[in-house]
Amino acid sequence: MLHEVALHCYNITQSYLAINTEPLLNSTTRETIKHTQHAIQLSRRYLLQDIFSRWDPFNGEISFSYNGGKDCQVLLIIYLGCLWELFMKSIQDSQYGVEYHRFPMDRVPTVYIDQDAMFESAQEFLQESVDRYCLSLYESPKDKQVGMAQAFRNFLAVHPETQAIVIGVRHSDPFGETLRPVQETDENWPRFFRLQPLLHWNLSEIWSFLLYSGEEVCGLYELGFTSLGSVNNTLRNPYLRVPEPVVGASLAPSEQHHSDFEWEIAHNYRGDGQAHCSRVSHGDLQAIREHDASQFHPGWYLTKDEWERAGRLARRK
Ligand code: FAD
Repeated sequence: MLHEVALHCYNITQSYLAINTEPLLNSTTRETIKHTQHAIQLSRRYLLQDIFSRWDPFNGEISFSYNGGKDCQVLLIIYLGCLWELFMKSIQDSQYGVEYHRFPMDRVPTVYIDQDAMFESAQEFLQESVDRYCLSLYESPKDKQVGMAQAFRNFLAVHPETQAIVIGVRHSDPFGETLRPVQETDENWPRFFRLQPLLHWNLSEIWSFLLYSGEEVCGLYELGFTSLGSVNNTLRNPYLRVPEPVVGASLAPSEQHHSDFEWEIAHNYRGDGQAHCSRVSHGDLQAIREHDASQFHPGWYLTKDEWERAGRLARRK
């Protein structure tokens, strides 16, 4: 039920915001969590003050663009938590308890543009997200000839009530530097408002929050992917390749790969101290290993924003 998911996401967000960073001995963890708390507060402010005051998320005016990637998953958790806050605010003056009020929506209007050949496991994760987060998903008909702008035109023809679409884009994404939290689409795009409350987040902050949430993330990340694009042009991130052991040589500490998020995983909201990743299909595993049999560290070992898309530069045959 959406109201349970929204409350769950609200609790995750509040739990993260309540982390006391002072006793944390590792300064990287301490600073990352402090920055992430700040990033969450800013996203919440955009949603609750600037966005929900202009568009009503409960009557279909806002849709959420979702492809199962880590960024839009983070944003979805925060968005759902804000829906809970908005609902609670709407009933705060009522003399009746929360159990007497119906959550105003059953499913979150969501749109996925199905253009490129996707990893089977990413497709499965997307479908699992539909149930987990109570999404009402519009999937564009798969047609490579139709560009993204046209696909959104087709979407609006089916859902003309949509006035604004939430996007999990960040400033560090290509062409993302000059984007603003709320802006209209460009001239050659169909008319609607882009809602981009995640722009200021960096990669470390994304992983810190997502791993702390204890929510299942797409299993491809665990294999060393850091940015999920089409199956034809996405490889595991070369910066995460585990070096072959060289007899007699030892790596200097600075060259060793390690995770910056051990604390978040150990203290995750779920309370089981583990990272949760979805199943990777046999077909995907086989294709990935056939292409490169090396071992890779999980995607969250990489925190340099400028290397995040290094696995998307290469073309796969
Ligand atoms: P990612 O970094 O993978 O994704 C960034 C975010 O985009 C995701 O978190 C998700 O919210 C959304 N997204 C990405 N792929 C999909 C998908 N297949 N289906 C649904 N959502 C997805 N470009 C312009 O030049 N001008 C515009 O006015 C413009 N408006 C846009 C409006 C929307 C709602 C979206 C989703 C995109 C728009 N774009 C526009 C394109 C955008 O700038 C990116 O080029 C595009 O999202 C893919 O970028 P990426 O590979 O960096 O995606």
